[in-house]
Amino acid sequence: MATKKFLLSENDIPESWYNIVADMTNKPLPPLHPGTKEPIKAEDLEAIFPKAIIEQEMSTDRWIGIPEEVRELYKIWRPTPLVRAYGLEKALDTPARIYFKNEGLSPVGSHKLNSALAQAYYNKMEGVTHLTTETGAGQWGTALSFACNLFGLSLEVFMVQVSYNQKPYRRVMMQTWDATVTPSPSLSTYAGRAVKVRGKDGSGSLGIAISEAIERAVGTPGTKYSLGSVLNHVALHQTVIGLEAEKQFMLADDFPDTVIGCFGGGSNFSGISFPFLRHNLTEGKRIRIVASEPASCPKLSRGKFEYDFGDTAGLTPLLPMYTLGHDFRPADIHAGGLRYHGAGSIVSQLRRDGLIEVEDIPQLETFEAGRLFARTEGTIPAPESAHAIASVIREARRAKEEGCARAILFNLSGHGLIDMSAYDQYLEGKMRNYVLSDVEISRTLEGLESLIP
Ligand SMILES: *Cc1c(COP(=O)(O)O)cnc(C)c1O
Repeated sequence: MATKKFLLSENDIPESWYNIVADMTNKPLPPLHPGTKEPIKAEDLEAIFPKAIIEQEMSTDRWIGIPEEVRELYKIWRPTPLVRAYGLEKALDTPARIYFKNEGLSPVGSHKLNSALAQAYYNKMEGVTHLTTETGAGQWGTALSFACNLFGLSLEVFMVQVSYNQKPYRRVMMQTWDATVTPSPSLSTYAGRAVKVRGKDGSGSLGIAISEAIERAVGTPGTKYSLGSVLNHVALHQTVIGLEAEKQFMLADDFPDTVIGCFGGGSNFSGISFPFLRHNLTEGKRIRIVASEPASCPKLSRGKFEYDFGDTAGLTPLLPMYTLGHDFRPADIHAGGLRYHGAGSIVSQLRRDGLIEVEDIPQLETFEAGRLFARTEGTIPAPESAHAIASVIREARRAKEEGCARAILFNLSGHGLIDMSAYDQYLEGKMRNYVLSDVEISRTLEGLESLIP
């Protein structure tokens, strides 16, 4: 049998992250101060982020060095393997060559640790003692809990209520790493009480949890806030994934024609795709870059490009993004990490410029794809990652119809071993698709002020 895994050594872990903003002709529009509607200044962010993170958020430098301490910690599980999915190819009887980068091998089970370690490190360096954050499915919360534990920071995590109920083991993981976990919406913040009082949002949303975490950080001495997706610095940290994959394709003597990532706020998608998109931007290559999002939370395909808040209460700067509106309430799909109303500003600009493509996948198709992957490759994928797999399967079938061999790369952003209750529902035939009408979308978009120049 031909080579299955393409492995690098610890010395091959990249020394810098890649900042795609340097190579974009149209840079992302600046975030705006919600009061003045003027571009925010670095000082405006200092209440919630350390200076080093703010610098990265605004940087246009192409390469940003990975601190040696962070690179050392990456060695706990990096480099992750690039795997050729022969089993899946065979089951699909496709001429396509399918490869995946296995980020599910991190100690916390997902790609999120790539940024959590960096963020905990920069906070520690600037004397912060306590962090707050939100978590949807619990993946970001577990990653940051472990990272904070390594750097001796304490952490409070606001966990979206629906996931708190659906995924109790993620809560226990966070607690194992000493984090305090509060179900959101909670009664312990103004933002949480506001939605509780209105009697809405029993199951919560990432937008509300973000509001709670920011409010807590701003009101507590020695405390800052940390976000696991959407923002530029998070996308930056995740580029280790694609940079390693680039080297691994040299070992494979191949190169991807299509790169696919599932899409929540954009961090794993950016991580796998930006280093390849770079070849399109700088060398005129034409790699197809595809974001797979849930049909029930389709910000990139059916949302509007507008300035919007990153949270529900409106505590963040206004970000230029494809959004369904910060009041959008996604259905309780099992891919909790994809239930977010907006997309990061870099990805949004790339989408606006036609440099990336989007595919919407209904929930049942994602579990069908996840199960086929589990049966052929062994790993049970996270429900989020199963969106990418569903897109891969569509692409591999097209390749078969067109009788055209091509190389497909996707990011296996996480394993699904803590998501077995979702698979249980699927196997018992109790899962369903959610249909989202245009009327519902326009309702939450209505309130947005038009600020795009
Ligand atoms: C959080 C998460 C996602 C979605 O977040 P992005 O920032 O869009 O990557 C996808 N997959 C897994 C496994 C996750 O934990």
